[in-house]
Amino acid sequence: MKKILITGAAGFLGSHLCDRFINEGYYVIGMDNLITGDLKNIEHLFKLKNFEFYNHDVSKFVHVSGSLDYILHFASPASPIDYLKIPIQTLKVGAMGTHNLLGLAKAKNARILIASTSEIYGDPLVHPQTEEYYGNVNTIGPRGVYDEAKRFMESITMAYNRFHGLETRIVRIFNTYGPRMRLNDGRVIPAFIGQALRGEDLTIFGDGSQTRSFCYVDDQVEGIYRLLLSDYDLPVNIGNPYEITIKDFAEEIVKLTGTDQKIIYKPLPKDDPMQRQPNISKAKELLGWEPKIMREEGMRKTYKYFKSLPEEELYKKEH
Ligand code: NAD
Ligand code: UDP
Repeated sequence: MKKILITGAAGFLGSHLCDRFINEGYYVIGMDNLITGDLKNIEHLFKLKNFEFYNHDVSKFVHVSGSLDYILHFASPASPIDYLKIPIQTLKVGAMGTHNLLGLAKAKNARILIASTSEIYGDPLVHPQTEEYYGNVNTIGPRGVYDEAKRFMESITMAYNRFHGLETRIVRIFNTYGPRMRLNDGRVIPAFIGQALRGEDLTIFGDGSQTRSFCYVDDQVEGIYRLLLSDYDLPVNIGNPYEITIKDFAEEIVKLTGTDQKIIYKPLPKDDPMQRQPNISKAKELLGWEPKIMREEGMRKTYKYFKSLPEEELYKKEH
């Protein structure tokens, strides 16, 4: 049985990855310090013989006994309100956390895939973003703590690849959504749906002309799975190229939820990227991957999930 370590296992993407690798017949070790994650996302796995959980901060030395075939490094605050609230931990998990996991991968002779992000392109001057684009990041802006941590993560991963011959994979994840996102994590989809469910106005930041391209979680997990098992070690964008303005998206949410609340406007946060759309030619060509679940279907499933949560979740304060 192949053994995989998944960091950030109690989070949104990490928990879906745990499910996927369990279903593929792997022995899965989940690791998380629960700083933004929730054990509820993986509690259904605790009864399984091929799942174990370590409550550990990966910015500190990481020890796992026995052999390991693969590591997926997904631990990191991921939503702007999270990483603005815990900026130092965000830098540490991208830098020291990644260093620890690369060291572990080297010691175990395991292949490691790290979760990078479209944020490494910053507020992009090239559109759509190809993997060859170097990005436009404000190193000292508030978002810099996340963007630069992820850029460092890519650099140190390539250094381990070139210097130590480690087998590495880098996925650049574009905005992904679905069940198990935290309703209060501040990202636009839980924010709008939470507002609609509480009967509040929907808050657009800026004039709503900024764009994003939203990928459903099952598609994202499939892309990551294929990339891990591929033999390609340079970064690959995984995301859904269907781009939409935040204003049009708010209107879609009004229709989906049937809310009679208004759309209101608030200031745009500093360095909020104006446009974002992945070029996925590489993923198509190298992995035979492209998204299958379009926004309408993905949003219906996501709304159903949020509606099924106990009412107190709607009023929970941010972490
Ligand atoms: P999430 O907040 O739901 O999950 C992150 C998990 O990492 C949480 O469970 C958290 O407790 C854990 N964690 C954070 N710091 C840790 C540490 N020092 N030690 C151990 N565990 C720690 O976020 P997510 O959306 O699931 O994102 C997962 C990964 O994917 C992140 O690395 C993020 O940067 C990347 N990513 C996500 C998206 C997206 O759209 N969801 C986009 C780009 C990149
Ligand atoms: N956004 C918004 N209202 C909200 C939350 C977010 O208009 O209540 C905007 C945000 O400014 C950004 C876009 O929606 O332009 C996507 O934000 P999110 O935090 O989901 O992701 P990211 O900016 O990291 O892509």
